[in-house]
Amino acid sequence: MNKWIQPIARYMRPRHVQTRLTLWYVFVLAGVLLLSWGLTASFLFLQLRAQLDHYAIQDIETVEGLLSFDTSGALTLREDYHNHPESKQVLERYLEVRSPEGGVLYRNERLAGQALSGDPIPGEGEGGYSTRSARLRDGTPVRMVSRRHTLDGRPLLLRLAYSEKPIWARYEELAVASLLALPVILALAGFAGYLLAQRTLAPLEVMARRAEQITSERLHERLPNSETDDELGRLARIFNNLLARLEQSFEQLRRFTADASHELRTPLTSIRSVGEVALQKDSSCDEYRDTIGSMLEEVNRLTALIDSLLTISRADEGRIQLHPTVFSAMDLAREAAGLFEVLVEEKRQKIAVDGDEDASVKGDRVFLRQALVNIIHNAVKYSPVGGTIFVRVRHEPAGSLRLEVADNGPGIASEHSARIFDRFYRVDESRSRGQGGAGLGLSIAQWAVRVHGGDIQLLPTPGTGCTFQICLPPVSNA
Ligand code: ADP
Repeated sequence: MNKWIQPIARYMRPRHVQTRLTLWYVFVLAGVLLLSWGLTASFLFLQLRAQLDHYAIQDIETVEGLLSFDTSGALTLREDYHNHPESKQVLERYLEVRSPEGGVLYRNERLAGQALSGDPIPGEGEGGYSTRSARLRDGTPVRMVSRRHTLDGRPLLLRLAYSEKPIWARYEELAVASLLALPVILALAGFAGYLLAQRTLAPLEVMARRAEQITSERLHERLPNSETDDELGRLARIFNNLLARLEQSFEQLRRFTADASHELRTPLTSIRSVGEVALQKDSSCDEYRDTIGSMLEEVNRLTALIDSLLTISRADEGRIQLHPTVFSAMDLAREAAGLFEVLVEEKRQKIAVDGDEDASVKGDRVFLRQALVNIIHNAVKYSPVGGTIFVRVRHEPAGSLRLEVADNGPGIASEHSARIFDRFYRVDESRSRGQGGAGLGLSIAQWAVRVHGGDIQLLPTPGTGCTFQICLPPVSNA
């Protein structure tokens, strides 16, 4: 069954929200109108019928006073009723008198020999008046009131009924008038609803048209109507925020691609020019060795750069899996510093590692070491010959861990400190490229620390040199 209904329902479902809203509105309005009219008509009908009951009770009391047995013992309405204005009206009602056993004692002319609702039902007319609706043999609907009465010591069951035809006629008139008015009301309401829906949804249409025109080259454009405080304004604002984020990501991606290409080209150009120069002249074996050596240096630089780029792109994709363990922070600091033994010796520098031997840290050892290595490497690179680099490990009272790397190099001017962690950002291009940096070390360190729930910052350092601080959450929280 469902197999058939679903495609039909889909086919019948109007494509436009505007039409759907209007149809819903019209259907709901039709339902509400029909229900309210039905309730009103029923209420009116019941009220009119209650009124009929009231009149019938009054009439039955009149009839009680006019009944008498004639000399032959037959029941009659008294002769003088013609002069009695109220009793005259009684003629216009249906009147029947029965014995309690059901025997018919009297029927007025209006009944034309028809029974008024058959044999008495148990308890009918006892202890007051009983009312009920019935139908005569000729189909006339009647409202009947019954009452027990005693005349000359004989028990009687009086029944008096009013035709319900006038009330049914009123009911039908009302129903016909309502049904005739319904299509007109619904057509007017539907038209008004359609215009209203069109007006309400018009901004959505404008937004859709504008959104259609936004391509990757036009991400700076924004949807209109974002100033309004309603749902459409909210939608436009959410969409505009999404566009802003997309624009920022596109811009970052574009810059990253351009910077990466630029960084890759530099060592390649260098390799090519070194090779070309070597090929142009006859060189000695030592000269060739030198050439190959400098080419390998550039290749190393390229490899390091490509490694960094790979780390960044995998981090961006969220593809890097962390393997957290708990280990000693001092061991980590010593291990990272130990990697620079040769370099430090060459520059006659010193790396002093000190701090809290009990301090432990939870995280992926490889990536946290990478972060520390990148910072110590910078300190070694930029510190002068004979300088000292301090690596300090401190356990905070709240349980978090601080790792500080301080040097006495040229330092970083405050105007650069905000951008120092940006990809490919260098304070001084010539200074850092000469020392092999592509401006990625700090951004990788920042990612590695943040992915562990920590933070890294450059502390304002008075005098020369600079201090980088890594904060990591307590072992229990990490
Ligand atoms: P790079 O690989 O070029 O060193 P980084 O992202 O590690 O890139 O650092 C960005 C820039 O910050 C560097 O180019 C350098 O100019 C500056 N910088 C970083 N650390 C130091 C430091 N200890 N002393 C002076 N300048 C630094």
